[in-house]
Amino acid sequence: MSDTDTTTTETTEVLDHWIAGGPDAGSGDRTGPVYDPARGVVAKRVRMGTADDVDRAVQVARKAFTSWGETSIAKRQQVLFAFRELLNARRDELAAILTAEHGKVLSDAAGEIARGLEVVEFACGMPHLTKGSFSLNASTDVDVYTVKEPLGVVGIISPFNFPAMVPMWFFPIAIAAGNTVVLKPSEKDPSAASWLAALLAEAGLPDGVFNVVHGDKEAVDALLVHPEVAAISFVGSTPIARYVYETATREGKRVQALGGAKNHMLVLPDADLDLAADAAVNAGFGSAGERCMAISVLVAVDPIGDDLVAKITERMARLRTGDGREGADMGPLITREHRDKVAGYLDVAGADGATVVVDGRGVQADGAAEGFWLGPSLVDHVPTDSSVYTDEIFGPVLSVVRVASYAEGVELINAVPYGNGTAIFTNDGGAARRFMRDVEVGMVGVNVPIPVPVAYHSFGGWKASMFGDAKAYGPHGVEFYTRDKTITSRWLDPSHGGINLGFPQNT
Ligand code: NAD
Repeated sequence: MSDTDTTTTETTEVLDHWIAGGPDAGSGDRTGPVYDPARGVVAKRVRMGTADDVDRAVQVARKAFTSWGETSIAKRQQVLFAFRELLNARRDELAAILTAEHGKVLSDAAGEIARGLEVVEFACGMPHLTKGSFSLNASTDVDVYTVKEPLGVVGIISPFNFPAMVPMWFFPIAIAAGNTVVLKPSEKDPSAASWLAALLAEAGLPDGVFNVVHGDKEAVDALLVHPEVAAISFVGSTPIARYVYETATREGKRVQALGGAKNHMLVLPDADLDLAADAAVNAGFGSAGERCMAISVLVAVDPIGDDLVAKITERMARLRTGDGREGADMGPLITREHRDKVAGYLDVAGADGATVVVDGRGVQADGAAEGFWLGPSLVDHVPTDSSVYTDEIFGPVLSVVRVASYAEGVELINAVPYGNGTAIFTNDGGAARRFMRDVEVGMVGVNVPIPVPVAYHSFGGWKASMFGDAKAYGPHGVEFYTRDKTITSRWLDPSHGGINLGFPQNT
């Protein structure tokens, strides 16, 4: 048990790794608690992988790559199609796992799975996406063509807030392109990863192509430096993303590391304030604010601040916090420790001179008293030097900042070190277009508060929200998990003889 683990254990179940096509107990004896956050109890424990476990999983994946990388695109595609069908048919089962371990309400869990499925469907189109290019007769009797080859073994390290979707941003594309995978999911809600591994096996994926090593820093570190791992896809907080990027690129790996966020929603005076208030509530408190694309700061351009705050407050009063299995609007936070940390920002807000308009600490949650509850909270007039403004809180605390003009709002957003998502609410097309160009953020919404790109575009932020050049999924995902080889070819012909030491020129 960890030091913070003071709650009772409901069961002695221990979740194994998944290596070489089945559950694997690994070599270590360390385990960690997996909570049911709505009940505030330890529901199961998860194995904490060692460097040896990672090494074994990587060796298994390396061996599997020798045949999977050579398997025809058609056969790989058939596995992806079968996986898509199984996942679609059994999505309720997965949603129940997500709600039990993460706490997000069932409808939100279903949404997470739907967005993951989109990427699976995108990956089913891999034959088209990797077909390369061919230049006939580039020089006389010389053809030049470029093929896309898989990299080998790729490591995926995922965060707690999307235990199914974030792994699915990566592994469908990696596998469809011919790579093999070692996934290290979050230790806080690890069951979804093991469930997906079993489903992939059921879909006909050969043993060893997809492996899961559970654990924490020890397993991550082993993956980052393993010589047989060609690439790392990471999603998590900015300090760890930076560390992962620096460590793994130093080892010569290809790395994409997506980090944290502080997403602002700019509301212009001409906006429909009812729609803006709905959007702010949905994007601020959905999944208890534990989304990297959550809106955490509302920037109200004078003179609409008071009206907007009133409309949001009125909507917040109707939100029901409680057990996501039982029809609540908003579930608990992931751990007691995280709940307390987020709640602490409401103290900071008061001390820093902000106005706590709605204080979620007193929430009457519809669920067990021991659940990790914090109700939706609204803080107005937040000073921009307060940690309530500068930190990524990652909980149901929405800040409001007032500005005098559009220009002041954009300046504020561009001064933030993060650049994940942002949104503008306005009925002025010219202003929206100008915002789209002015703002230094990777994903922009126009009257759309959570602009997560569809699967055939790519997901990723700017600045401290992403390290590396390739975003997640979409065209960037295909590029990330393949490398180009360009072949210049001439079939022997007696006319090609003769000595010429000059640099080859096209004729
Ligand atoms: P986290 O950084 O704590 O953990 C992410 C992963 O890194 C986990 O698998 C964890 O086990 C591992 N890890 C944690 N500490 C480590 C260490 N010291 N060394 C090596 N590995 C370590 O993030 P989290 O709390 O699980 O997730 C929330 C964070 O993820 C937020 O900051 C959120 O914004 C971010 N996030 C970003 C995106 C995005 O697309 N940009 C998407 C989802 C979540």
